[in-house]
Amino acid sequence: MGVLTAIALVLAPIPATAQPVTVGQEAASAQQAATAQQATATQQGTPAGAHAPALRWFKGNTHTHTLNSDGDSTPDDVVRWYREHRYHFLVLSDHNYLTAVEGLNAALGADDRFVLIPGEEVSGQFEKAPVHLNALNLRTTVPPQGGSSVADVLSRNVAAIRAAGALSQVNHPNFGWAITAADLLRAPGLQLLEIFNGHPAVNNLGGGGVPGTEAIWDTLLSAGVPVRGVATDDAHQFQAPWNLTASRPGQGWVMVRAPELTAEAVIDALARGDVYASTGVELEDVTASASEVTVRVKVAGTTKYRVLFIGQGGRVLAEVTDTPAVYSIRGDEGYVRAKVIDSNGKIAWTQPIVVRAGGQSGS
Ligand SMILES: [Zn+2]
Ligand SMILES: [Zn+2]
Repeated sequence: MGVLTAIALVLAPIPATAQPVTVGQEAASAQQAATAQQATATQQGTPAGAHAPALRWFKGNTHTHTLNSDGDSTPDDVVRWYREHRYHFLVLSDHNYLTAVEGLNAALGADDRFVLIPGEEVSGQFEKAPVHLNALNLRTTVPPQGGSSVADVLSRNVAAIRAAGALSQVNHPNFGWAITAADLLRAPGLQLLEIFNGHPAVNNLGGGGVPGTEAIWDTLLSAGVPVRGVATDDAHQFQAPWNLTASRPGQGWVMVRAPELTAEAVIDALARGDVYASTGVELEDVTASASEVTVRVKVAGTTKYRVLFIGQGGRVLAEVTDTPAVYSIRGDEGYVRAKVIDSNGKIAWTQPIVVRAGGQSGS
């Protein structure tokens, strides 16, 4: 069995607040840890992390519409829905429109309770294929970028969003069956990918021989693309909660782990991958060491759970029915991510942990 040098490197400096190590994160994290230790040593000789604020989970939705595009409610009403349903943060992402959030934050934001993050759904297309990406924590509108193929449109939009200083999120790849894994593999710089979108017409599960969004994610991860999986509402309709064919709020969200509730801290946690996606399952904790991955589910009433640990190629490595669910790393998984399915059909998805064997493959 190989030696897991990459993971050991990352986790060694931060045992007390072990965070999930995610695909592509190792080098940056190791570097950050080293830098932090250096800075601490040269400043006061305080043990690293002694004054680090405790990390907390914050619930949020990164995809929502208002009357500023094709939503049915004012920004104020939309924000109130999420505030009243105990979300901590919200991104208003109207089509090709940047809704100002300063006034809304002044009226409805609250330190440590709720924050609005400015955003836009950069909504372009290639021929008839809709290519939509969200720009999170955006300051100026990004117009949709054209291109010579779906992959080219994706690449140009990701680049434009990142150049504007925002975090990019590829939305509903199976909407209009527009975006394939092959397209995404040809688009550099991907950051977030919707693996669940709450709109009723986005074909999350795939069908007719076309892979679902989670399978698309596994294809990217298996190719070494460090993309984070997120769940969102893409809510348009707040006025008809009884209408199950409407795109309603409260369907899918993310839980990010951050030291404070600010737009910057939330975006940083999403970018680092300290986040899980959910349609209703809540987790206490996700931790990883060089030898195992542990998922602690917050058990709701009499609900029962299955925790699937998934690796390279989307292969199920193990199924665990106890919580905490512990997976022992062998070294040949490529990556390990967890999917928690409850007995009522709700799901949580954790981010992948890279497993790189230090020895020869197959040893
Ligand atoms: Zn869209
Ligand atoms: Zn949308």
